[in-house]
Amino acid sequence: MMRQYELVERVQKYKPDADIALLNKAYVYAMQKHGRQKRASGDPYISHPLEVAAILTELHMDESTIAVALLHDTIEDTSATRAEIDAFFGDEIGALVEGLTKIKRLDLVSRKAQQAENLRKLFLAVADDVRVLLVKLADRLHNMRTLYYMRADKRRRISEETMEIYAPLAGRMGMQDMREELEDLSFQYINPEAYQTIKDKLEDLSGQNKALVKSIEDELRALLTEHGLEGVKVKGRLKKPFSIFNKMQSKSLSFEQMSDLYGFRIIVDELESCYRALGFVHTRWRMVPERFKDYISNPKQNGYQSLHTTIVGPLRQRIELQIRTRAMHDVAEYGIAAHSLYKEGRKAGGDETNVFSWFRKTIEALAEGDSPEEFLEHTKLELFQDQVFCFTPKGQLIALPKDATPIDFAYAVHTNIGDTCVGAKVNGRMMPLVTRLNNGDEVEIIRSGVQVPPPAWEGIVVTGKARAAIRRATRAAIRKQYSGLGYRILERTFARSGKTFSREVLASVLHRLGQSDVEDVIAAVGRNELSSSDVLKAVFPDHKDERVTIKPSPEDGWVSLPKGAGMAFRLPEGEGETGVPLRGLNGAAIVRFSPSGAVPGDRIVGITEDDGSITVYPIQSPGLQQYEDQPDRWIDIRWDIDSTNDKRFLARLGVNVLNEPGTLARITSTIATLDVNIRSIRMDVIAEDFAEVEMDMEVWDLRQLTQTINQLKALDCVATVKREFA
Ligand code: MN
Repeated sequence: MMRQYELVERVQKYKPDADIALLNKAYVYAMQKHGRQKRASGDPYISHPLEVAAILTELHMDESTIAVALLHDTIEDTSATRAEIDAFFGDEIGALVEGLTKIKRLDLVSRKAQQAENLRKLFLAVADDVRVLLVKLADRLHNMRTLYYMRADKRRRISEETMEIYAPLAGRMGMQDMREELEDLSFQYINPEAYQTIKDKLEDLSGQNKALVKSIEDELRALLTEHGLEGVKVKGRLKKPFSIFNKMQSKSLSFEQMSDLYGFRIIVDELESCYRALGFVHTRWRMVPERFKDYISNPKQNGYQSLHTTIVGPLRQRIELQIRTRAMHDVAEYGIAAHSLYKEGRKAGGDETNVFSWFRKTIEALAEGDSPEEFLEHTKLELFQDQVFCFTPKGQLIALPKDATPIDFAYAVHTNIGDTCVGAKVNGRMMPLVTRLNNGDEVEIIRSGVQVPPPAWEGIVVTGKARAAIRRATRAAIRKQYSGLGYRILERTFARSGKTFSREVLASVLHRLGQSDVEDVIAAVGRNELSSSDVLKAVFPDHKDERVTIKPSPEDGWVSLPKGAGMAFRLPEGEGETGVPLRGLNGAAIVRFSPSGAVPGDRIVGITEDDGSITVYPIQSPGLQQYEDQPDRWIDIRWDIDSTNDKRFLARLGVNVLNEPGTLARITSTIATLDVNIRSIRMDVIAEDFAEVEMDMEVWDLRQLTQTINQLKALDCVATVKREFA
């Protein structure tokens, strides 16, 4: 087991001026907090943070990152709090430990393979500092190294997760050694048979060929030294089981058919020596065509640089060679950590701009093609700032743009869920649908059976999918509302000309109307956006409209009038009266109502007239605007109605109806059955197919009025009903 003093010695080796007090303090704090907790292996828990810290010393991390490693499980697993860590270690370390805590909580969420890419992004979004990711990777590496002690089912799940998420993340951060080790450890649990087979064969091979590796190393070293290259290091090794397995799979080869199981690395002093070394090697041994790659002049996205070639070696076996400088090697091994980015006392004259541009490239590689933020401040990973990642209650990850709402979330899960969404719980609490979601939120959508999305949602949502679906659903609802009406109008218009209307007839002439959908046309007629006679003309271009426009039809009290015609009958205006059942008035006050009336249940105000009388207005009345700058004329009044009330009150309705015989009779008889008095009717033909009826009626109260409006709306000759205010 790693000991605290060994850890300190390791740090001091690469950073002699390291803050030892900080390391000791972090160690003591973590040890006290973890107390008697044990690992599954039976070791004291503190051994884990110590090992994680030790892994990070291999990457030469600074002492605050090492301290974070020691503290990384304290908030999640002990009584430690962010505030306490801030107080002891400062808020930078506090923030990093909290970042690790957040990522650890994400571990609890169940995952699916196809979500791996999203999850990697989520990690990057949550871990807004590279150091959090480095500590997390070291944490995972140690957990994988000790995975044997976990339950078998857990071993498999954790291994799959490591293979899908952490190993590629390490690779993209440029840490090849860590990636390989994570892959091999996972492989061992995911596919134990294949792992064991390959491992056994590799062991056989290395037993047989121990001398071979050494002799190739010697031969390469001698070749390069004799040509005057200095400080050359050569190292050969057998490849790892997982990378061999991968190659066997992708090329459909058996182990015996695998030709390049050995890899040799040549490390030289300077860049130009790489190409010279390559020349000498190719001169001595035959190269395998098409296996040469120059990653020095064309670095990989994560900054990796090297020359790759394959040669047919001394014993006619294929040998893979990597040739690179020491600096390139450090980048290949340690990736992001290879840079003195987080270390104080950056080397004088060090090319900072280059470090940052390398760093930026690495970030771009992490983002895999997604456009990264323009500016990166020091270690801040301002990545995916334009996205939020949320979860369904079952743990499915949903990626959304920034500022997304629960409505966007619902539509992202399924259009049907969006259409029927009526509410949302965010992290278990009911929240308004306009709430902006945050990273890691768990969102549960409350649905109803019949809801149509309100058109206003279109202004709330941020995703195109939600917007399109809302528009579609709104359009469908409007179409449904108006299609019955439109169909009736068309039927009637066609019948009057001795023709028969049908959807099929209409379908054949859609192009003449510049439309593509039969239902759209019918709804457009219902909404008075298209006249029925235009449709008739489209179907029968030669037909002459012989419609008789004005023909009194006394039997139903209704006349069909040309556009612009009007008629009205009106009772005289009511005189001012007293004893109106209102509170807030002197009983003797003379009261009038606004021309459109007011009924009990309306919110009302009084306006004092010049003669001392009071005019009562519903609060919605546009007529009130003229008094806005005369507040002293406004009187606060309320209805004073009880069950003994025997007075009716005036209200005005605007009813948009089909312009056809029988309509008025149906409206008036409907109103009569509701015990409502009609005081006046005025009507205008506003279009060939429609008429606007304005009615003043006397009702007991708002409830009766609302009932009247609903009954009228239910008539199939009625398009719309609105309360009107003067
Ligand atoms: Mn841990």
